[in-house]
Amino acid sequence: MTGRADAARPAAVVVGGGLAGITAALRLAEADHRVTLVEGRPRLGGLAFSFQRGELTVDNGQHVYLRCCTAYRGLLDRLGAARLVHLQDRLDVPVLGVSGPAGAPVRTLGRLRRAGLPVPLHLAGSLARYPHLGPADRARVVRGALALQSLDLADPALDAVSFGDWLRGNGQNARTIAALWDLVGVATLNARADQVSLALAAMVFKTGLLSDPGASDIGTAAVPLGTIHHDRALAELERAGVKVLLRARVAELKPASPQHAVRLEGGELLTADTVVLAGAQDTAAALLPPDAVDGQDRLAGFGTAPILNVHVVYDRKVLRRPFFAALGSPVQWVFDRTAHSGLAGTELGRAHPGAQYLALSQSAVQDEIDLPVAELRRRYLPELARLLPAAGGAGVLDFFVTRERTATFDPAPGTAALRPTARTKVPGLLLAGAWTATGWPATMEGAVRSGHAAADAALAAAGTHLPVDRGDGRWPR
Ligand SMILES: Cc1cc2nc3c(=O)[nH]c(=O)nc-3n(C[C@H](O)[C@H](O)[C@H](O)COP(=O)(O)OP(=O)(O)OC[C@H]3O[C@@H](n4cnc5c(N)ncnc54)[C@H](O)[C@@H]3O)c2cc1C
Repeated sequence: MTGRADAARPAAVVVGGGLAGITAALRLAEADHRVTLVEGRPRLGGLAFSFQRGELTVDNGQHVYLRCCTAYRGLLDRLGAARLVHLQDRLDVPVLGVSGPAGAPVRTLGRLRRAGLPVPLHLAGSLARYPHLGPADRARVVRGALALQSLDLADPALDAVSFGDWLRGNGQNARTIAALWDLVGVATLNARADQVSLALAAMVFKTGLLSDPGASDIGTAAVPLGTIHHDRALAELERAGVKVLLRARVAELKPASPQHAVRLEGGELLTADTVVLAGAQDTAAALLPPDAVDGQDRLAGFGTAPILNVHVVYDRKVLRRPFFAALGSPVQWVFDRTAHSGLAGTELGRAHPGAQYLALSQSAVQDEIDLPVAELRRRYLPELARLLPAAGGAGVLDFFVTRERTATFDPAPGTAALRPTARTKVPGLLLAGAWTATGWPATMEGAVRSGHAAADAALAAAGTHLPVDRGDGRWPR
């Protein structure tokens, strides 16, 4: 802050208080703008938030990041939240395979774990012992990984091809796709290989698994998401001088010179030199003036994909690990949420000391997202019992689901052409959001990168000197 008189400071309005909007607002405030952040919901954090279910604190969906998510980690640092997350020293994913009938399941535990060796040898030992693939299939995976590594991420042709077609064309079969490529890909891309653009899949696998040996070490919040994305973010925004309006929806944007007009649903009018639209693609489609970006008419057709979280509170401990991925079951990834949720301090937890709360993170579930809770219960409880012997004899104290129908954009082939850059054709009007052209799939990392891109573009257009060499996307410190 320079302490310039308020009237001399440029005004900015950021529409949307998800991670993209939080990032853009902080950056603009740090560059001495008078920033107002407008968020329609009662809280910040957008798609990555927490809520109360009685005494239990629940995340709307389990969120994971990787060590290579430098921009998100930079935001964590900026929010003073680096101690509120846990990042693995070394990638270690227990992969529990199950086969056979419910009465006599056969369980096999494997691990995707990295060694302290250079890429690609860091995963070679783990793959050599991976019990879910035979020797010939493991060799296929190595061939596929080498072929992936040779792809040029800047080649626009990659976006026209489906990852599934490419995998089969490069020696992969149904087993390697299920036991490895989809195991990782469905969780990170929110679609199965056949529905994913090769450009996005190659980006994820090259950056996450085949760049730096530590790139894929897994990070998770050690507290409810809301503690970081709402509480910490709100405190830092206010400290930076950002005016945060919650429960305030932007109804209309009128671009004008010298200042744009932003009308809230209640009628209040804000004026700003810079407006960052940091909602999802539907917000951009609704608020952008005509012809503000190329291909704007196609924004409405930019699809979305759902994520379902299934939450189960057992009366006892049924899982000893913080998380695992499942194979041979509709269950995908399972996380222990007991500590985050404050279960032990609830009436339920006091009545059942040792109770455990698990969340199942189920991606790309277009066919399940609208199923009734009772049906999901019938589907998932027996599967958890198939996977976890102790779950079979445990009592279920609570069962509920959280449904995010528009969790991510649809990462289908052809997506890259639909994603606009931060800069629009209207001076002072910028776009941000995980759906914009970051090169990343819809992730927290993509959202933060998009917020930086919008702030960078706004500041560059205003001739503001940018911090030098933030090359790795981390917050300037
Ligand atoms: C269940 C689930 C699991 C996920 N898992 C992961 C994961 O493991 N790892 C990962 O990296 N990512 C994950 N994601 C994706 C990640 O949460 C999102 O990509 C990211 O949070 C998007 O941030 P954003 O700021 O771009 O958009 P959003 O979070 O969508 O924020 C946009 C905000 O704008 C507000 N808004 C929109 N229009 C208006 C308006 N007119 N006026 C005022 N406010 C408005 C909205 O209310 C919203 O708060 C997951 C998402 C979900 C839903």
